[in-house]
Amino acid sequence: MDLSYWPISLELRDTFRINREASDRRDNVFVKIVDEFGNEGLGEAAPSRYYQQTANSVSQALSTISLTGVSEPFRLEDITNDLSKKLQNQRSALTAVDMAMHDLIGKRLKIPLYRLFGLHCTQVPVTSFTIGIASPDEMRHKTEGAAHFHTLKVKLGMANDREMISAIRSVTSVPLRVDANAAWTVTEAVENLKWLYDEGIELVEQPLAKNDLDGFRRLTDLSPIPIIADESVETPEDVIKLRGCVHGVNIKLNKCGGLREAFKMISIARAQEMQVMLGCFIESSLGISAAVHLSPLVDYVDLDGHLLIQNDPFRGLRLQDGKVLPTDQAGLGIQPIESSA
Ligand code: MG
Repeated sequence: MDLSYWPISLELRDTFRINREASDRRDNVFVKIVDEFGNEGLGEAAPSRYYQQTANSVSQALSTISLTGVSEPFRLEDITNDLSKKLQNQRSALTAVDMAMHDLIGKRLKIPLYRLFGLHCTQVPVTSFTIGIASPDEMRHKTEGAAHFHTLKVKLGMANDREMISAIRSVTSVPLRVDANAAWTVTEAVENLKWLYDEGIELVEQPLAKNDLDGFRRLTDLSPIPIIADESVETPEDVIKLRGCVHGVNIKLNKCGGLREAFKMISIARAQEMQVMLGCFIESSLGISAAVHLSPLVDYVDLDGHLLIQNDPFRGLRLQDGKVLPTDQAGLGIQPIESSA
């Protein structure tokens, strides 16, 4: 099989701000795999500086691998284990290849990926739409523009957290999720949970620092709102470590290495009676679609990355009754926009 890859700049509709960074564009990397029959599989790497990954490091990592000797895409266990050793900590590069391999397999079998995983789209939960950090006026305005979403996720971790939530609550009564992106101490989190509970918050994502597992355990023991780990969980081993420390985990394909690894993590979380959220980075419809195919398995969906960009090169996902749904076309069910005319 032949592997090629190219970088892409995704331009954001608005500056996307969280407590530790702000951005106007994201540089991702697309991957294409072509088999001996000319079938194509596509994947997307969404590298994050937080995990020491950039478009350059992903391209560099991909330049070290070859699929020339691989003729059988169905041997995913062998292929991904081998690539995982070669790509080491560049898990978003592995994700893009895993995604492209799954797309190719779906196309070879002529079934959408959710069917390959034994799933059905009637069970897809609604997605949240993210409101990034901005002035209270801007956040109110963004909330009014997101009236067709059934739940919103609000980025917190600033001195005026309460003011931001009040601004949003003044114009909507939908369930709100909050994401502190590791900004609070245990004491701050305990205080914040009290007023967040009164505001009808559905869940709190990553209130504490990545490695503060003892703090997470103490907070989860007393929290009336589900506590979900995000930055603290990258791999299946992390899901095991977090047992008893949080109510649930936010799994993202680009953190863990792709669909195959994410499926394992969901199974491990379920075996430990943990809740599961499926999240994303800023990604095109291509990367988001891969997660969408697994979304019937989870409690909370946060797959809005493609809705935050203005130059999505792919189409194929639809937003219906607050849910992001795939097509019933084979593989990921995604097409490049330029060839759709
Ligand atoms: Mg998060």
